[in-house]
Amino acid sequence: MIIIMKTEASEPELAEVLRRVEQNGFRPFINPGVERKVVAVLGEVDIDKIALMEEFSNLPGVERVQLISDPFKLSSRQAHPASLEITVGKLRIGGAGLVIMAGPCSVESRAQILEAAREVKEAGAHVLRGGAFKPRTSPHSFQGLGATGLELLAEARQATGLPIVTEVMDPHEVELVGTYADILQIGARNMQNFALLRAAGRSTRPVLLKRGAGSRIRDFLMAAEYVLAEGNPNVILCERGIITFEDATRNTTDINAIPVLKRATHLPVILDPSHSTGDWELVAPIALAGIAAGADGLIVEVHPDPQHALSDGKQSLKPKRFARLVEQVGRLAPVVGRELRHN
Ligand code: PEP
Ligand code: MN
Repeated sequence: MIIIMKTEASEPELAEVLRRVEQNGFRPFINPGVERKVVAVLGEVDIDKIALMEEFSNLPGVERVQLISDPFKLSSRQAHPASLEITVGKLRIGGAGLVIMAGPCSVESRAQILEAAREVKEAGAHVLRGGAFKPRTSPHSFQGLGATGLELLAEARQATGLPIVTEVMDPHEVELVGTYADILQIGARNMQNFALLRAAGRSTRPVLLKRGAGSRIRDFLMAAEYVLAEGNPNVILCERGIITFEDATRNTTDINAIPVLKRATHLPVILDPSHSTGDWELVAPIALAGIAAGADGLIVEVHPDPQHALSDGKQSLKPKRFARLVEQVGRLAPVVGRELRHN
């Protein structure tokens, strides 16, 4: 249930609404960033909804009360019909413009990340990706450069002007990663790490949340809900492939998820065709399929020398191939009523 206040509602009127919500045993949540105040009523509404709606509707300053049938109340499009645009410096993520994030799977060295940053920027990318803390399936695999990797990312941002997206795996490291990153990435393996989601929800940085490989769309939206419920409204959802019986590819791109998510939520939705396929030759066709399906952007692994990459070389594009993909996205965008944002 949401309570939509009149634009001219006063502070005492709002305070009274909040008090009455609490009095009925619910938690009021004021949606930030909207013109008129909207109060979400959080908790299980299993008592007489009609009587409750009437009680709230009659309070001074209230425009109307609306039931939200989706269980993911804060991320539901029912509560926010307009698509969210997230501002990162001069960049807007979501809305009509398409955004491309690109870079290596892992930050490996100063030379590697600086070269990758320059090349993806040149090709038209808007955001630089690169993992410093890596969630590897095997503890014997390269685990990332950690804090040193964050320093190198900051240097690459300085050199190119590209904002940084990088993964955080530990709730206690959200603050540290947030001092370097412009966008915090929460990886597929941590999609239901609720302590991490909550900590990211208390950060002022936007969160790029990747879908768990074994998660349903509704679990994915509920994970986003954890971030929103802590007060951080800026979540970007990322489809990155799911596990199915098909083993011809690393994962199966759930193309359906893109329009399903766009219909369900106002949050921006992007596609990661690198992890969803695991194969560089499939990255461009699946990336284009994602844009055609309505994605608000892409996150793509690009490495100056994929053969020698310390992680995910098999699915990494060389910078030249990536530049061709950006061109193709630019040509496809108007066909689906979008445009590639300037970088
Ligand atoms: C990554 O982006 O490099 C990564 C580990 O992705 P995911 O969490 O989707 O596996
Ligand atoms: Mn990777």
